[in-house]
Amino acid sequence: MEDSGHQFDVIIVGAGVMGSSTAYQTAKRGQKTLLLEQFDFLHHCGSSHGESRTIRATYPEDYYYSLVMESYKLWQQAEAQIGYKVYFKANQFDIGPSDDNILHAIIDNCRKHSIPHEVLNWSQVTEKFSGRFNIPENWLGVTSEFGGVIKPTKAVSMFQTLALQKGAILRDNMEVVDIKKDEDRQGILVFTANGEKFWCKKCVVTVGAWMKKLVKTVNGLELPIQPMEANVCYWRIKEGNEAAYAIGSNFPTFASFGDPYIYGTPSLEYPGLIKIAMHRGDPCDPDKRPWGSGVALDALKQWVEGRFKGIVDSSEPVAKQSCMYSMTPDEDYVIDFLGGEFETDVVIGGGFSGHGFKISPAIGRILADLVLKGEANGVELKHFRIARFKENPKGNLKEF
Ligand SMILES: Cc1cc2nc3c(=O)[nH]c(=O)nc-3n(C[C@H](O)[C@H](O)[C@H](O)COP(=O)(O)OP(=O)(O)OC[C@H]3O[C@@H](n4cnc5c(N)ncnc54)[C@H](O)[C@@H]3O)c2cc1C
Repeated sequence: MEDSGHQFDVIIVGAGVMGSSTAYQTAKRGQKTLLLEQFDFLHHCGSSHGESRTIRATYPEDYYYSLVMESYKLWQQAEAQIGYKVYFKANQFDIGPSDDNILHAIIDNCRKHSIPHEVLNWSQVTEKFSGRFNIPENWLGVTSEFGGVIKPTKAVSMFQTLALQKGAILRDNMEVVDIKKDEDRQGILVFTANGEKFWCKKCVVTVGAWMKKLVKTVNGLELPIQPMEANVCYWRIKEGNEAAYAIGSNFPTFASFGDPYIYGTPSLEYPGLIKIAMHRGDPCDPDKRPWGSGVALDALKQWVEGRFKGIVDSSEPVAKQSCMYSMTPDEDYVIDFLGGEFETDVVIGGGFSGHGFKISPAIGRILADLVLKGEANGVELKHFRIARFKENPKGNLKEF
């Protein structure tokens, strides 16, 4: 039998934003919680590090709206508890060719959910942003008020601090190598690479790009969650124009649909630089990263030049940062019970497909609900279940 220092109500494996937010939720509910991380806390080798993530309510899929709106509230509540800001307000601006299906789905969802928004043609866009943003004549733009920037490393640190304050135990440099059902008594055993063994009633696995590997080891299931190395680029704003692109100047967070799919933020983290990146990545092994492959710079440079007409220097990005996506075939998350012999005692949260950060407070709430109560309100889990990969041709389990 493990000593009491090795027995917990809930063990959470993986201390990125999802695991840290979940640990805060379970500890807040009075559960004896352990959060285990394979590297140093706040490391830069996963998906949750860096200086900015966008938040927007304008999803083409209807079912993300309520999760984003819940997350706005939970971000605010967490900020109030910790006493500092991780969210910086901006409007959202979505653009694309006027016949782009995603853009039209976004407009439909704005109407359906009464999100205040404006649909603008190219001349209205030029006027609205006083020439700071330009779109081609056959494009449309949609402005809406639910945008903004979240500071990722600071937000992960916030959730970890809040979890600690609520009594959670946090341990880093603890790689989990196996999870087994305790055959002798009810519960779960969690084994680490340094030979320690922990017991818990319930377990949540939030290991990001390592999900496919760990789940395969634990129960043989091959989830179609593909790690991809993605890169973000920072571009220099020409001298004298910096303030016009800064957060708070009414310059928005933005997404440009079609090919290439591009997104960006107002200038915030590095004065005089603006983040403009491509929503894409190259398949990788999270333990053998290429570190820096895969920026399709020609298309990105062309886009920067076309949208900012020389005000942002499109000749070269001045900085690049590397990160990992965990892509599913349909780009929807994987939130479910692991099932099999674990039944409902092990819950997994992964496959966030490059768009999970904004919703991490709601994901933490949902994962905590699922593992503690066996169900979660306020979310239609059918979009996120493992079983969809067998049912949906788009999400064929064999696709990766
Ligand atoms: C370039 C880029 C831009 C993005 N932009 C946005 C954006 O604008 N808006 C948005 O909403 N989202 C965005 N995202 C997505 C968002 O950042 C991710 O969805 C989110 O960070 C995923 O968090 P996670 O906790 O699942 O994964 P991670 O942060 O990778 O956390 C998983 C953790 O598990 C640990 N771990 C793995 N295996 C083990 C093990 N065996 N034992 C113990 N620990 C283990 C890892 O070390 C890691 O710390 C972006 C992602 C990238 C890469």
